[in-house]
Amino acid sequence: MNIEQLRKGIVDFCRRQIEKKQLPHWWRDPILATAVADERFNILPGIAAPGHMLPRDLLPSCRTVVVFFIPFAPELTRGNIKGNFPSDDWGRSLSLTNDLIRDISEFIRVSLAKAGYTSELTPATYNFDPESLTARWSHKHLAHISGLGRFGINGQMITPSGCSGRLGSLVTETDLGEHPLVLNEDLCLHKAGQECLKCIRNCPVQAVTLNGILRQKCNQRLQVNRKKFAARPYMSEDMEVCAKCVAGMPCSLTSPVPVSAVLNDDLPKIPGAAASRPGFLS
Ligand code: SF4
Ligand code: SF4
Repeated sequence: MNIEQLRKGIVDFCRRQIEKKQLPHWWRDPILATAVADERFNILPGIAAPGHMLPRDLLPSCRTVVVFFIPFAPELTRGNIKGNFPSDDWGRSLSLTNDLIRDISEFIRVSLAKAGYTSELTPATYNFDPESLTARWSHKHLAHISGLGRFGINGQMITPSGCSGRLGSLVTETDLGEHPLVLNEDLCLHKAGQECLKCIRNCPVQAVTLNGILRQKCNQRLQVNRKKFAARPYMSEDMEVCAKCVAGMPCSLTSPVPVSAVLNDDLPKIPGAAASRPGFLS
């Protein structure tokens, strides 16, 4: 199995899971990037969170970081545009998406294990620090380093399939090589020097700013939404969702900036990226 087979493998698996579990068609095909687990990741405690773990903390023999993105379908995304509170479907999609992320991660782990390699998985939401509201394992920062996408002003990861969706990641001792999907500095219109800032205008509590997301303000809104959902008999109590800065944006379903990518065998051109190693999966 090579990187193309792995990418196709998760697409086929995801489609099968949706059919097998008779899930709503709330997701598009997942996309995936890999990065050599080198010194670039040492920056994580400095930029993501002081206690952020390194790939080798999860798996000392780790050689590759794998990050994937499950984009939401246009119907689910557009359904969350109206009003100041999230749609019921958006709330319901949370745990189903977490399950899909877990299942895809496990599919990758088992596929690599068949070739004799160990991998270590991380949950969709991992070790969230309630004080700093930062994660000790940030899928978004891993996605940026791995070239799966770029941060938008809304604090989300804009990928070639947009930012409306969820990320998953794992580390493996398989040497998969360097396979980014994005080489641009930025995929956000504002960051790329064009007019937008729709996400700032759309946040109901003004938590999106040019200087970053005001985490406490955003979290307060999530708690308000959680209580709203919990009051309904058919909803679970842990739905901390909002995403008004994600739905209805020019970056929701696709990158609003043309994506410059490489063919799989090209060398990465991401600043600081190490030279590509031959990727293989036997
Ligand atoms: S809505 Fe516009 S400014 Fe905000 S993240 Fe998307 S592209 Fe960037
Ligand atoms: S999730 Fe909601 S509250 Fe948080 S920044 Fe986005 S729009 Fe604002």
